[in-house]
Amino acid sequence: MSVAVPKPAGSPLDRSVTTLYGVGPERTAQLARIEIHTIEDLLLHRPHRYEDRKRMRTIAELALEEPAITRGKVMAAGVKWFRKHTKSIFELVLDDGTARLHCRWWNLPYMEKYFAIGDEVLVFGKLLGLKPRTIDHPETEVIEGGEESLIHMNRITPVYPLTEGLPQRYLRSLIWRTLNSFESQIQEPWSVNVGQTAKKPTMGSVQYEAASLLPSRARAIHMLHCPEHAHEPELARKRLALDEFVELQRKIQIRRRNFATKAEALPCGGDNRLIKPFLARLGFKLTEAQTQVLRELRKDMNGAHPMRRLLQGDVGSGKTVVAACCSLMTLESGHNVVLMAPTEILAEQHWMNFSKWFAPLQIQVELQTGSRKTRSGAGSKNFSGATAREAGASAGDANGIGADRKPPRLFIGTHALIEPGFVPENIGLVVIDEQHKFGVAQREQLLHKGHYPHLLVMTATPIPRTLGLTIYGELDISTINHAPRGRGRIKTFIRDSAHLPKVWDFIRSKIAEGRQAFVVYPRVEETSDNGVKAVTKEFNSIQESLASVPVGLLHGRLQTEEKERVMAAFRDNQVKVLLATSIVEVGLDVPNATVMLVENAEQFGLAQLHQLRGRIGRGAHDSFCILVAGSKNAEARRRLQVLEGTEDGFKIAEADLKIRGPGELLGHQQSGMPRFRFADFSADLDLIHQARGMAQELVAAKP
Ligand code: ADP
Ligand code: MG
Repeated sequence: MSVAVPKPAGSPLDRSVTTLYGVGPERTAQLARIEIHTIEDLLLHRPHRYEDRKRMRTIAELALEEPAITRGKVMAAGVKWFRKHTKSIFELVLDDGTARLHCRWWNLPYMEKYFAIGDEVLVFGKLLGLKPRTIDHPETEVIEGGEESLIHMNRITPVYPLTEGLPQRYLRSLIWRTLNSFESQIQEPWSVNVGQTAKKPTMGSVQYEAASLLPSRARAIHMLHCPEHAHEPELARKRLALDEFVELQRKIQIRRRNFATKAEALPCGGDNRLIKPFLARLGFKLTEAQTQVLRELRKDMNGAHPMRRLLQGDVGSGKTVVAACCSLMTLESGHNVVLMAPTEILAEQHWMNFSKWFAPLQIQVELQTGSRKTRSGAGSKNFSGATAREAGASAGDANGIGADRKPPRLFIGTHALIEPGFVPENIGLVVIDEQHKFGVAQREQLLHKGHYPHLLVMTATPIPRTLGLTIYGELDISTINHAPRGRGRIKTFIRDSAHLPKVWDFIRSKIAEGRQAFVVYPRVEETSDNGVKAVTKEFNSIQESLASVPVGLLHGRLQTEEKERVMAAFRDNQVKVLLATSIVEVGLDVPNATVMLVENAEQFGLAQLHQLRGRIGRGAHDSFCILVAGSKNAEARRRLQVLEGTEDGFKIAEADLKIRGPGELLGHQQSGMPRFRFADFSADLDLIHQARGMAQELVAAKP
């Protein structure tokens, strides 16, 4: 079997909704607000739920707290005002012959104008009380007679997301009519011909069989709006999600193919002359996982096409050393290396580590951040510490070979590296640390400073497979799956703010034992009286209560010098407690710190808390992560319990994905992404695999 894309033709579905009967400028504007611009957008507008209106209950049959649908005739309607005309209740009384139902809306007096005595009204909601039978803020629809009611009644009826001024019945009718006239023109974006290529009895063909069990695109869109059975909307969703994944994977494959034909790699495998002494002096042996990953990297760096690789490994798994080895291969091969990190303090930490590591190897390491143009570290005394700008200006004579060429070096920095002022020559390797904090565009900008350099991106945010294949589809993935041995354990606790005095006693005892602590607050300054603690306000009171213990304060609004001073003091164990915002979330490595206290933990995402927890547990002592939940919110607590239960970053990432959706992760990456209306990233791994295989065939079939 094979897949093929039909010839593109100007599709009538691409026309604007304005061309539809009954859609004037006002409706067009309303539809645009819910991102419906074309006829296709309209046909892909996904109901947020369905009502089985064949199975309606009588009012007498309604049960407490159970969502259900019923109908009745309006007997009375009216608004009651109170509190000096500042508050109101609009009440509607319905009767269907079995019982009466009171529907109430708080502070929405204009609801009155939607109903008239004698109207037949559909009601969807949960019964709150029986005496009288009451539903607050139900969804309603006035039933109108005539032929149109077929669209709205006696079937599994779709209920669509709306915007202000756009009535449910109008939109449902519009979609129904549009579907009737355009269904026959919905084309397959790709076609599956079963039984044509029996050449490869691989996993792929099995998977396509599953794909060919899905309905056609036209049928799927029909099922989406007019399902005859309860399972049909999910079947439709799957088919339409598959189309989204195929579209994305096709783009990815085409880009990969273009890349492979255009880009020739610089040979950067090195000759071990720097790596050997580096590893000998390192003070620890690489783990098996690190060695294995290095083998993969070296193969890429010697390959015909530039490396495009993602290195993922949980917090503390030891990615930095791997990046250092990869850098050394490049430097051995005579090319420069650029390493970008998302925060100044992390860039500085890397600069210090790499300077220390590379100094004995006579390799110069330079720091380039927004506030500090360039600082040269270590390396041989011959270097003047010229700014990167100067280095770029003298690139003319640096392009040559042999004696004229400057010895290769390593540039470390923040986003400042992307700025036009930074013009290094001869880049062999670009490393991006904590990649999830950058967008694809930034990555590309940095890559374009060289001529197809190798690329290594690193992340400690474990990405669920579904998203990995979506966001990082263009990259090969290596994983460090085991942390170095000899680490203390991390225990995680969730505590009420009432327990804070005890928590502080505990922190004091750990400091007395010689350890250090991070204390993280969600905000720099108190913004309102919502009870969310801010770091500056707490600083004084904590300093007071800890008396003789030195406390440091760190947040994004401090001057660079101040940040560096505080970080240095914490690293040197002079400051014992570091009060900070989530600025310390990524990358920091202070093994003597064994306590992480997070205040208002419910304000952070799970993946973010996992990163924060990753700041501890880096040394031999046992560590303690204490999450203080300020709110009584049971939901928030349940979320935090995921962290209590596991240290496995992947499990946490999956849980985060289920709870918060892919928005945040996808959001960073916008360029080139299709609009995902139907994709379900916590369930569609199979579909994504199918889509990959199909996209491969599609792209291969096209010269
Ligand atoms: P991450 O993967 O989160 O970036 P780091 O690279 O910062 O982790 O490493 C965490 C700590 O583990 C560092 O202090 C580092 O020196 C140490 N480390 C890395 N590899 C090893 C190893 N093979 N054995 C012992 N310690 C290691
Ligand atoms: Mg790191």
